[in-house]
Amino acid sequence: MRVAVSRLHFPVTALGPGRRVGLWFQGCAIRCPGCVSVDTWTDGIGETALPGLLDAIDVWIADADGLTVSGGEPFGQPEALAEVLRFWRRRSRGSILVYTGHELDDVAPWLDANPGLVDGLMTGPFRSDLSQTLALRGSDNQRLHVLSPQGREFAPFDRPARQEDRSLDVMFDDEGRAWLAGIPARGDLARLRRVLTAAGHEVQMSDSIRNLA
Ligand code: SF4
Repeated sequence: MRVAVSRLHFPVTALGPGRRVGLWFQGCAIRCPGCVSVDTWTDGIGETALPGLLDAIDVWIADADGLTVSGGEPFGQPEALAEVLRFWRRRSRGSILVYTGHELDDVAPWLDANPGLVDGLMTGPFRSDLSQTLALRGSDNQRLHVLSPQGREFAPFDRPARQEDRSLDVMFDDEGRAWLAGIPARGDLARLRRVLTAAGHEVQMSDSIRNLA
């Protein structure tokens, strides 16, 4: 089996409790206006063999408090998603948080077919026309579902966002490019672009490479 992946990183601290493995699937057909991850929309790039992805995750499992899967749209690759989560369950007691742009009813058949694989599920598309006041969310229509006893660790995030919730993880890829993980507050990326550009850095935001989609 092959899986299209945008990014894989550890540790990620801005997408759930503790130090988590972050996995971003590649490909999203939902295409919310204002999405900050436009680079993850395109299908057919970032493909890799599933065993290689699992090996890469395995290196971090002993030190990780959990796995957060986002995208892109994880449920756009339903078999690969199930395989990754089954692997995590076999190898780790850490919690699993999955983000989807679909609503709960849309992914309920997958959840029924794959019981016990998801502890916390954040559902709903990003809506730039709605407010953003809640933790771990880009817009307030998004709903956090606790799907298992272990998922209760996500319940404290069902609250208004605090200052610490606005933190972002800064990471560097093999080419030395920096990228961010987390839920930026509205306008944060535009402000960051202005500051970096003024300092002489080349800045390419996700929404500036829309032609990839
Ligand atoms: S916010 Fe999520 S669901 Fe919406 S277009 Fe972006 S990646 Fe897809």
